[in-house]
Amino acid sequence: METARILGVNFHDVTLTTAVDAAMEQIRAHKKGYVVTPNSEIVYVAQEDTTFRDILNRASLVLPDGIGVVYAAKILGQKLSGKVAGCDFAEALVYRMSKEGMRLFLLGAKPGVADAAAANLQKKYPGLVIAGTRDGYFKQDQEAIDAVNAVGADVLFVCLGAPKQERFMAGHKDELNVTLSCGLGGSLDVFAGTAQRAPEIFIKLGLEWFYRLLKEPARVGRMMSLPKFMLRVIRVKLFGKREQ
Ligand code: UDP
Repeated sequence: METARILGVNFHDVTLTTAVDAAMEQIRAHKKGYVVTPNSEIVYVAQEDTTFRDILNRASLVLPDGIGVVYAAKILGQKLSGKVAGCDFAEALVYRMSKEGMRLFLLGAKPGVADAAAANLQKKYPGLVIAGTRDGYFKQDQEAIDAVNAVGADVLFVCLGAPKQERFMAGHKDELNVTLSCGLGGSLDVFAGTAQRAPEIFIKLGLEWFYRLLKEPARVGRMMSLPKFMLRVIRVKLFGKREQ
């Protein structure tokens, strides 16, 4: 698979369909791995934290979950077909899993959210098997690992926010009795209906981040990493590959 290198993170050049195809192939082959969905904020953090950056680059699939990453690829002359939002990837994967009766475990979010997400997904995709759920507020990782391993699954959705979910997936890959883990941030809140995605028009215009800012003004601090990220990308473009 072709990659686009953005400030040290190697994104896979995929569409939603080819990303899900690759994931399904990996699950059927029982090849262990994990999927990450970095946005510009995560890439910005990864520049200063090389351990985290290595975790991202060791993933089986690195999906560009943000318009900032797509613009950065354009500026840097790297080929990236477009944004693949973690939430869209998750739902498309669930649909394909449901066709083959595959088992999914949902880990993360506040108590009750993963159960509500499971109920909604199962109603929408009847062939899907929900192997289990667990909220994301455990004291020791072992509690979550034990919960997953007690039932086992083909796929594990890990929704703990970044970089916690990526550290969890990479750190426990060998211990977890699942084939593919996917780090998906706030996706369980969306599936449960406790959070809404932006209306289609915002998504089409590449303004999903703006809608989220309107809904959650407290995120303004975190979102300041977007202009910093773009400035860094422009510097790399103008002054060479030193920061790549
Ligand atoms: N969360 C969790 N455990 C934690 C911290 C966060 O399960 O210790 C959950 C939180 O409830 C939310 C998700 O992780 O459902 C993070 O969502 P957010 O949209 O902030 O994800 P990000 O944008 O950081 O990827």
